[in-house]
Amino acid sequence: MSAPNHMKIKIALAAVLLASPALAAPFDVAATKKAVAAQLDKDYPRLDTLYKDLHQHPELGFQEVATAAKLAREMKALGFTVTEKVGKTGVVAVLKNGEGPSILVRTEMDALPMEEKTGLPYASTAKTTWNGKETFVDHSCGHDIHMAAWIGTARALVALKAQWKGTLVFVAQPSEESVTGAKAMLDDGFIQRFGKPDYGFALHVGPGAAGQVYYKAGVLTSNSDSLELTFNGRGGHGSMPSSTIDPVMMAARFTVDVQSVISREKDPAAFGVVTIGSIQAGSAGNIIPDKSVLRGTIRTYDAPVRDKILAGIERTAKATADMSGAPAPDLAIVSGGKAVVNDAALTEKTAAVFKTAFGPNAIATPNPGAASEDYSEFILAGVPSVYFAIGGYDPKAMAEAKAAGKPLPVNHSPFFAPVPEPTIRTGVEAMTLAVMNVAQGGQ
Ligand SMILES: [Zn+2]
Ligand SMILES: [Zn+2]
Repeated sequence: MSAPNHMKIKIALAAVLLASPALAAPFDVAATKKAVAAQLDKDYPRLDTLYKDLHQHPELGFQEVATAAKLAREMKALGFTVTEKVGKTGVVAVLKNGEGPSILVRTEMDALPMEEKTGLPYASTAKTTWNGKETFVDHSCGHDIHMAAWIGTARALVALKAQWKGTLVFVAQPSEESVTGAKAMLDDGFIQRFGKPDYGFALHVGPGAAGQVYYKAGVLTSNSDSLELTFNGRGGHGSMPSSTIDPVMMAARFTVDVQSVISREKDPAAFGVVTIGSIQAGSAGNIIPDKSVLRGTIRTYDAPVRDKILAGIERTAKATADMSGAPAPDLAIVSGGKAVVNDAALTEKTAAVFKTAFGPNAIATPNPGAASEDYSEFILAGVPSVYFAIGGYDPKAMAEAKAAGKPLPVNHSPFFAPVPEPTIRTGVEAMTLAVMNVAQGGQ
C-alpha cells in the first residue's frame, strides 16, 4: 500500500530540508583550526620523522616502491582501506565516515634525478639507475613535504571524524615529474574502482614564506608540450659550403623565426611561450654536419592558442628546410601536462575558509604559473578541484636573501630547502579545513 499523496509530498519536503546545506551545522573555522592544531601538536614529531625519512630515501617516478609502502602502512594503521599498485606504484586509501560527499586528496611521491647540495643534516645521498645511468636522487620539488602533510591531514581528519561526514579518497600518485603518473592511475581504472570523487584537493610547496597559503580560481598551470625537431642537411667540408646543406644554419634560422609565431601570430593578450632550450649539431669547426637536433618546450593556457602555436611551429620548420633546399624536417611534439583549472565555486568556498583561518597569510595569486602539473588529469576526469600552494621559505632566510639581493633557490634547484616546520603544519591545517569545509555540509 502506498502512502497518500500529501504525505509523500511532506516526506519529500523533509528530505529536501534535511539535505539543504543551509540547515547543516555552521562550520566554525576558528574552532576547527584550533582542534587541528591541537592534533598536530601530538602528531608533529611523527610527521617530522616521516618527512626526514622520505627526504633521505627519495625514489624516482614509477620506482616509488618503498615510499608507497611507507604511506600504505601509515594509512592502514589509521583504519583506511588501502589499495596498492594502482597505476604501477600508486596508492589509494579510502575511509568511509557516514553519508556525504567523497573527497579526493592527492599527493605525489616522486623525486628528481639530481644531486642535493643543501648541506642539510638530513640531505639525500641516495643514488639509483635512471635511463641506464647511475644518478643521484633528491626530493628537490618538495613532494616529501606533500606526503607528510597528506599523512598529517589523514590523521587530523580521523581524529576529528565526529565533526564531518563523507568518504575520503586519499591518492598517492607516482611520477608527477614526468606528468604521466595521474594518467597511469586513471588508466588503471581509478574512477571505475573507487568511484568518481565529488571534490578534489591537492597542494604544492613553492617559493613564498612558510605559513602562507596561496589560491586562485580558474587556470593555474600551463599546458606543456615538448618539441624535438631534426633538420636533415648534407654534411661536408667547412670550406665548401656550396656542396652541402647546412643544418646549423637551419637550426639558427628556426630558433629566431619561431619567435615570430609568438610575436606576430598569437594574440598578444594570450599566454604562450616557445623556448628552444637545446641545439645539438656538429663536432668540429671545419665540418658542416649532416643534421641538427633542437629541443624545446611550448607553454600555453588554452587549446586554441596551443593549436595556433603548434601549427606555426610546423610551418616555420618546413619553411626553414625549404629555404635551404633541404628535405622535410622531422618534427615530434609530445604532449605533456595539461593546464590545471580550478573550479570557480569550490575555490571561492575554500578561499573563504583560508581567509578566516589564515588572515593575511591567505593570499590570492593573480596570475597563473608557467609550470605544469598532471593533477589536471583528475580534473579532466570530472573531479571539480582546488589545487593550492603553500610557502616553504623561512621568513628570516627570505629577509636575509632580500637584503643581499640574492634570490632563494626555487623548486628543482639542488639547493631548494623548504623548512619542514611550519610548512608541513600549514599544509595539514589548510588541507584539513578545505576537506571539512565540503564534508561538513555534505552539499
Ligand atoms: Zn617538480
Ligand atoms: Zn612538484
